[in-house]
Amino acid sequence: MSGLQGGVNIVGAGLAGSLLAVLLAKRGFNVTVYERRADPRIGPADSGRSINLALAARGIRGLELAGLLGRVMPITIPMRGRMVHEHDGTAQLQMYGVRPEEVIHSVSRATLNRVLIEEAAALPNVSFHFGQLCLGLAHDRDVLEFRDEADGRIHHCAAQATIATDGGGSAVRDSLVAREVASVREEPLEHDYKELTIPGRDGKHVMDPNALHIWPRGGFMLIALPNLDGTFTATLFLARVGANSFEQLRDARDVDAFFAREFPSARALIPGLTSEWFEHPQGSLGTVYTRGWHLDGNVLLLGDAAHAIVPFHGQGMNCAFEDCAELMRMMDEHHTWAGLFEAFEQERRPNTDAIARMALENYLEMREAVLDPEYRKRKKQAEELEKQDPGFIPRYSKVMFHPEIRYVEALGTSSK
Ligand SMILES: Cc1cc2nc3c(=O)[nH]c(=O)nc-3n(C[C@H](O)[C@H](O)[C@H](O)COP(=O)(O)OP(=O)(O)OC[C@H]3O[C@@H](n4cnc5c(N)ncnc54)[C@H](O)[C@@H]3O)c2cc1C
Repeated sequence: MSGLQGGVNIVGAGLAGSLLAVLLAKRGFNVTVYERRADPRIGPADSGRSINLALAARGIRGLELAGLLGRVMPITIPMRGRMVHEHDGTAQLQMYGVRPEEVIHSVSRATLNRVLIEEAAALPNVSFHFGQLCLGLAHDRDVLEFRDEADGRIHHCAAQATIATDGGGSAVRDSLVAREVASVREEPLEHDYKELTIPGRDGKHVMDPNALHIWPRGGFMLIALPNLDGTFTATLFLARVGANSFEQLRDARDVDAFFAREFPSARALIPGLTSEWFEHPQGSLGTVYTRGWHLDGNVLLLGDAAHAIVPFHGQGMNCAFEDCAELMRMMDEHHTWAGLFEAFEQERRPNTDAIARMALENYLEMREAVLDPEYRKRKKQAEELEKQDPGFIPRYSKVMFHPEIRYVEALGTSSK
């Protein structure tokens, strides 16, 4: 039995924070959640970035632990492989796994986040405070400082047992760095992203909805994930500067010509291309490596706040949900918050470093290798081997379908 007691504060009601609120409350803790955004149950969702995400086995395991699969799976769409769209308009499906259940699931970030918040808020021992921007730890005391976004009022709460899930730009992490408890290395990617819409026809998808579509073009790529309303969200990943870059796409004519040249089949499906291009933000990406995830038993960083990664393995949320599940498992083994937080970092950091590396490697695989006939041949051979020998599991499958295999072990496997 764990000797951990009392209340827990959570900073950030994003994907990890809201799942964690459910898990902790179901263990009997009184949970107080502070979130800078407005309550998504009331107003229009402000997801900020990436409209949909791929949910895989590690994320599913975290949701299952919270008893939420029954609510979440109906809002997802299974994707059984990558549909690779070549320049000449032909497309070829490359299956993700060799078994029918080896699929990943497209889900709307905003809908998933709202469902998690609804589930947490329905528990009697969870309270949410929206519109509260955390400014980090107060300068000289172990208290958290907040600004109420409605009236500008500054208020504080004791930091004891706070879990900071305030995302890749974490204010709490900044204050751990300022106190020299943590050190951080941020590695921005040289490529940015932009999201565009592929509308449905009569509410139906215009391409196979059970696939993740990719238009790989070597140095850059376009992908598209299905949404429940018959649309796809397409995302262009492209260098910020240089040849074939965002910098070069200055006006509607440049954008249209670029898509017509590089992605003619997708261009035909995005009627709002040139208007959306200038309305939608150009998002940046990068990896955040942090050492020192906790301040005694007072504060722990979790999810993107501790280890943001690039999205090319579709694992950031999955890894954050795995963090939540692992923290719950480790609670049974630790009697103090400080002991738990320290053990959590020791256990998780090698794994989050491993997925950070695999996520970067997967960008090359997605935008380039999938076009290579040699790669395709090796992939086919690996599939055959996997069918014949259940003991042989390729790296991609280990990461996506085998949560019992740690990321560090998956990294030790050849990627082909
Ligand atoms: C383009 C793109 C595509 C992606 N695709 C995938 C995918 O397919 N699969 C996958 O698993 N992952 C994917 N990810 C990664 C995934 O989005 C993140 O890993 C995940 O959101 C991390 O969850 P989190 O709760 O740690 O952080 P977040 O979801 O970012 O939540 C942080 C929360 O904290 C709040 N907050 C921030 N600062 C403060 C503050 N100072 N005070 C109070 N509240 C604050 C925010 O408003 C937010 O609600 C993708 C990311 C991007 C950018």
